[in-house]
Amino acid sequence: MRFALAGNPNSGKTTLFNALTGSTAHVGNWPGVTVEKKSGYYKKLGEKIEIIDLPGIYSLSPYTPEEIVSRNYVLEEKPDCIINIVDSTNLLRNLYLTTQLNELDIPMIVALNMSDVSEKNGDFIDAEKLSEELNVKAVKISALKGSNIKELMEEALKCAKEPKKGVCVVNDGALKGIYKEVYGLYEKENIENPVFHTVKMIEGDSLETEKFPDIEKKCSELKEKIDTGDFEGDFEGVVADLRYKYIDKHYEPSLKKSNKMQGMTKSDKADKVLTHKIWGIPIFLLIMFAVFHLTFSENLLFIGYFIPEGSFDIPILGTDAINSPGVILFNIVDWITSSITEAVGGAMPEGTWYTSLICDGLLSGVFSVLSFIPQILVLFLFLSILEDSGYMARVAFIMDRAFRKFGLSGKAFMPLLMCFGCAVPGIMATRTLENEGERKRAICIAPFFSCGAKLPIWAAFAGVFAQVYSGLNAELIVFSMYLIGIVVAIIGALILKLTAAKGETPPFIMELPNYHAPQFKNLMLHLWDKLKHYIYRAATIIAGAVVIIWFLSSFNFEWQFVEDSGQSILGSIAKLFTWVFVPLGFAMGDDGWKFVVAAITGLIAKEMVVSTLGVFSGLEEDALEMEASDIVSTPLGIMMTGIGGGVLGGVDIAIPAMFSFMCFNLLSVPCMAAVAAASGELNSKKKLWTAIAFWMLTAYLVSLFVFWFGVLATVLWWAALIVGLVIVAVVVTLVVLSTKHIIKMPKFEFLKKLKKNSKKSS
Ligand code: GDP
Ligand code: MG
Repeated sequence: MRFALAGNPNSGKTTLFNALTGSTAHVGNWPGVTVEKKSGYYKKLGEKIEIIDLPGIYSLSPYTPEEIVSRNYVLEEKPDCIINIVDSTNLLRNLYLTTQLNELDIPMIVALNMSDVSEKNGDFIDAEKLSEELNVKAVKISALKGSNIKELMEEALKCAKEPKKGVCVVNDGALKGIYKEVYGLYEKENIENPVFHTVKMIEGDSLETEKFPDIEKKCSELKEKIDTGDFEGDFEGVVADLRYKYIDKHYEPSLKKSNKMQGMTKSDKADKVLTHKIWGIPIFLLIMFAVFHLTFSENLLFIGYFIPEGSFDIPILGTDAINSPGVILFNIVDWITSSITEAVGGAMPEGTWYTSLICDGLLSGVFSVLSFIPQILVLFLFLSILEDSGYMARVAFIMDRAFRKFGLSGKAFMPLLMCFGCAVPGIMATRTLENEGERKRAICIAPFFSCGAKLPIWAAFAGVFAQVYSGLNAELIVFSMYLIGIVVAIIGALILKLTAAKGETPPFIMELPNYHAPQFKNLMLHLWDKLKHYIYRAATIIAGAVVIIWFLSSFNFEWQFVEDSGQSILGSIAKLFTWVFVPLGFAMGDDGWKFVVAAITGLIAKEMVVSTLGVFSGLEEDALEMEASDIVSTPLGIMMTGIGGGVLGGVDIAIPAMFSFMCFNLLSVPCMAAVAAASGELNSKKKLWTAIAFWMLTAYLVSLFVFWFGVLATVLWWAALIVGLVIVAVVVTLVVLSTKHIIKMPKFEFLKKLKKNSKKSS
C-alpha cells in the first residue's frame, strides 16, 4: 500500500509525515522546504504502508516544480490513496486544491489538520456534513498533537480498498455543454482519470493540450462558441471561478466561524506592525541585532557602560560587564578544551614530533572549531524560533518588496535564508523557483549568505579584536559580516540580471501562516539537524585535514622537523603565491602567508580557516604556557591581531586587513559540498565554472575594496565617506536602469484574480 500526502504549503504535511513514519524530516514554516518527495513507512495497522510526503501545492496546474512533481506523482505512480491534508483554520482556501484532487479516480481522504487551533479559535467544522458534500471521508486531526491520526489511517485504509470515481465541481454555468462533450472524447479513448483530464483540457492546461492534440482541436472549436463574460476567453479563470463558487455554496455551510474571529485576529494585528511598509525592514534588522547581541556580546544589555571600571571580574561570566549566553557557553567550552590540551601536553614528553602532532596539530586544530559550537547553537536556536513562530515567512514577504528591484522575488529569499544554516540545502531549494534566470541568480549568490561554518571565523576575530580595540563591538562585527553578505548578494543578483543570468522576476504570492508559539521538539530537531553535520565534519574532514596541514607545516622538503613553519613545505609553497593576495592587505607581513593558506584551505570547508590558523598558532613556541582563558593572549589571538603585519606607512592596518580577510572568506568558493550541490543544480560544467569564477572574483574585488576603503577611512574619514556615497549612487542608478522595463506577466493577473476570489469566499 502506498499513501500520498498532498496539500497546500504549510498545511502540516511534513508534521504528519514525521508523526506517521517517526522520521525527522525538516518541518518548515514557509513553502519550498520540501522540494522533493520523501517516503517512509507507517506500520501500526498490521500492514506496512508507504507514506509519501509530496511538495506543497496550491493547484495541479504545471506552474511550479512542486506542482509538476506532485501532479506527475499522483497521475503516474498512482498511490492507493491520497491523504489530502487541509489547514482547517483556512478551510475554504485549502479546499480549492481538494476540488482538484477530487477529480482523480484515486481514493482520497481529507485530513482536517490543525483542529487544535481551529477549536481554540472557537470555529466549528461539521466533518460529517463536509464528507457528504465532498463525497469523500473527512477526519479532524492534529498532526502536531498527534490526535486522531490512527483513526485517519484506518479510514484511509478503508478508502484505499474501495474504487473511486472522480468528482467534478465545475460542470456548471458556461461550461455545462462543453464539459459533457469533452468528457465523451476522453471516454472514447478509454483514458484513466477522465474527469481530471476533461477539466484540464477545458482550462487549456499546457501539459494536457500537448499530450492530446486531437482532443484539444475539438475542444478549441467548442470553446469559440462560449461566452466567458468578464473572463474574456480565459478559461482557466472561468474554471477557478466555478470552483470557488462551488466551495462557497456547498462546503461553506459545514463551517461555523466563531464570532470572536470576525474582524482582525491577533496575527493580523501583529502583521500590521511587523510587515509594515516602512518599518518592516528596520524591525527585522533590530530583531536580528538582538539575536546577535544575545549570541556574541560581551556586554549584555550594555550594562558595562553604566557601571564603573574594576567593579568585578568573574571568569566565564564577564569583566565589568555581563557576557551574553552565547559567550558564557563559549567560555565554558573553551575552558574545557584548553584544560584538555594542557593536560595532554603536560603528560606527553616535551619537544617530540608526536607531542607536536597531537597538541599543536590535532587538538588545537579541531578544538579551535569545536569551541564555537555553543555560539552556533545559540544563534541557530534563535533563528529556529523566528522560523517556527512564522516570523521568517513574513521576512520573505517584506524582502520581496525590497528584493524585487534587484531581480529576486521573496520566493528566492526563502532558499537563501536556508543558506544562513548551510548553503547545500539552500542551493537545492532553489528548485522551487520557476524562472530559470532567477534560479541561476539565486544559486550564484547563495554562498554569500554567511553559513554556520563561517561563524567561527567571525566569532574568533570579533572576540579578539573587540578586546584589543576598545572602539569595536563584537556583535556588530559579526552582524556586519552577515549584512555585507546580503548587500553583496543583492548587488550581485542585480549585476547577474543585467549580464549573465537574465530573466524576469516572477510574481510572489504566499499565504502568511498564523503566528504560533514554537514547538520545543521542533526546535530541538532543527538544532540537531544543523549541529550533526557540523560535528561530523569536525571529526572527519577537519581532523584529517589539520593533520595534513600540521605535517606540511612542520617538515621541510628534506623531511626534517622544523621549528619555524615559514621554512616548512607549506610555508615554502605558500610564499610563492602570497603576492597575489598582498593587495588585499591580510597577506602583508611575516605571517601573511599563513592567512593565505587558511583562506585557501577554507575553499574546501570553511571550518578549516580557523583550524588552520589554530595549527599555525599551536606551532608557536611556548604555546602551551600561555594563559588560555583570555583569548587575546593566546597564540591564536596574538596571530590574529598581527594580521596584515600590523602597520603600513605608520597606519595601523590590522582592522582593515581583518575585514578584508573575513570578506574574502565570506564570498569565496564556499566549500566542496556546496560546489557539488551547485554543480548538480546548474547541470552544466560551463555554468559551474562561471559560478566559481564569479565567487572568486567577487571575493577578491570586495576584499580589495574593503581593505583600501578601510585604510582610507583610517587616514581620511571624509574621503571614505565621499567614496561610499558615490558607490551608493552607482547602485541606485543601476537599480533604476534595470527596473525600467519590468514586464507585467499575465499569470500575475490571473493569480491576483484567484486571490480576490478566495478573499470573497473566505
Ligand atoms: P508543510 O509545509 O505542509 O510540510 O507543513 P509543516 O509540516 O512544515 O507545518 C507547518 C507549520 O504548521 C509548522 O510550524 C507546524 O509545527 C505547524 N503545524 C502542523 N500541524 C499542526 C497542528 O496540527 N496543529 C498546530 N497547532 N500546528 C501545526
Ligand atoms: Mg513540508
